Amino acid sequence: MRYCVFCGVDIPLDANYCQICGKKQPECETVSGDEENPSAENEQETKQEKAISNKVIIAAVIVLPLLVAVVTVAIVLLLK
Ligand SMILES: [Zn+2]
Repeated sequence: MRYCVFCGVDIPLDANYCQICGKKQPECETVSGDEENPSAENEQETKQEKAISNKVIIAAVIVLPLLVAVVTVAIVLLLK
């Protein structure tokens, strides 16, 4: 849902005119231009996902050797 720029009432996304006050919605005049915004947002989301995945990889690189060391020490202690 989006809102009428004149009266603020909820109107359908594809509505050219407000159903309440009957005024034309200026956002609908540039339908082709609005299609570029979702792709830009998707690119930002993918960048954020890549940043998060990098943090996960870094954390794994730091945590895995520690786990191996702890398991190795535990095995050595058990074998004594
Ligand atoms: Zn309105």
